[in-house]
Amino acid sequence: MAQTWSPYWNPKIETLPKDQLRALQLKRLQALVQRAWSESPFHRRLYERAGATPDRIRTLDDLRRLPFMTREDWMANQAEKPLFGDLCTRPPADAIRYHLTSGTSGRQPLRVLDGRKDWSWIADMWCYGFWGFGIRPVDTVFFAFSYGSFIGFWGAHYCCEKLGCLTLASGNMTTEQRVKQIVELGATVVCATPTYALRMGQTAEKMGIDLRKDGKVRKVVVSGEPAGSIPAVKRMIEDMWGGRCGDTAGMTEIGTIMIFECEKQPGGPHIIEDHFIEEVLDPDSGEPVPYGERGERVVTSFGRGFIPLIRYRTKDLVCKVPHTRCSCGRNGDLYEGGILGRVDDMKLIRGTNVYPRAVEAIVREFKEVEEFQIVITRADVQDEITVKIELKTDQQHAWGALGPRLGKDLADAHEGLRFNIVLSPPGELPRFELKAKRLQDLRPTM
Ligand SMILES: [Zn+2]
Repeated sequence: MAQTWSPYWNPKIETLPKDQLRALQLKRLQALVQRAWSESPFHRRLYERAGATPDRIRTLDDLRRLPFMTREDWMANQAEKPLFGDLCTRPPADAIRYHLTSGTSGRQPLRVLDGRKDWSWIADMWCYGFWGFGIRPVDTVFFAFSYGSFIGFWGAHYCCEKLGCLTLASGNMTTEQRVKQIVELGATVVCATPTYALRMGQTAEKMGIDLRKDGKVRKVVVSGEPAGSIPAVKRMIEDMWGGRCGDTAGMTEIGTIMIFECEKQPGGPHIIEDHFIEEVLDPDSGEPVPYGERGERVVTSFGRGFIPLIRYRTKDLVCKVPHTRCSCGRNGDLYEGGILGRVDDMKLIRGTNVYPRAVEAIVREFKEVEEFQIVITRADVQDEITVKIELKTDQQHAWGALGPRLGKDLADAHEGLRFNIVLSPPGELPRFELKAKRLQDLRPTM
């Protein structure tokens, strides 16, 4: 007998009328600020400097009386008081987990500690997302990802245990082995970065495996890169896998995800608003922008006990639209198009703004493309932007028409800016499992 499930992980809270949701947020915000004030020396100093005290939070708008928290402050605090700074509300001995950011940018990694209760919450946030995207206890979930010191996807693994899904981790496998396992096991859900979901699809093709026919995957859950909400990337993943592709996004500073796509997929993920307040602000002025306008996400998170996160500047670019845009009945507002990029991602080339995500969205419209890379250089005083393209092995003949068309499409989308389009031989460009780094800015720094 087929079982009928609620579409919501937390039916009552996810469908609360907005005014009741706001009242719940206020109660949680007051408790959070009080806790940060009395238990985190880092926050106490920050608030004393700004003349902000917990009793001043009487309405949700009062959140704006509190100072921002930045990654720079956090890192400086850790450097001053190694290893963890004095931001945590509990001593390290009370923690059960220690994670680090990937540190790929050459900066000191950010170090985070969590307790048992925190991990239960971290898994629960993933449950909102997995359940909301239609994943159920009967599913078999394959993680095409290597869990390690980086927090990514760990929470999703525990979420699957909570849901009762059969789960297989694959940190020790090559891409070919993963593809084989997914088919052999009959996995119905695959979790990966969008880049890696594409790469597994390409590898399957080369192995002569048609994932649509040979596999049983009905959902691909992606995370870790903004590309999961680029329509062309989503379509490519869905074409390769024969299942729906759902985006999620989180960050080490939060420890879990704060947005997820529901099954209706109205063009962007929902914010989990009973656990997060997501402000969208003008990155320069710090003033809120209205619905439908781009701005920087600033997050306040209620659930992590060890690490109070209040008005944290994420540098993620987003565009918030009302929850009513989606027909699923959830009260969480949406980020149209997901995470649109980073505030500091923008490159200025000969007076024109270029966002790597926008370039990717255009490049991915060409199905013949297997991999690409953006390289920015400076010759004398003039900046040059080059897009290196690697075509699928059996699509080399397409180059003659594709190169000029891609150049034209990119120029049209960038006020006529000339992009150099270069063909790279198969296998030359770097491949990624975790966060793809497809942009190289080789201009001298002054
Ligand atoms: Zn929805």
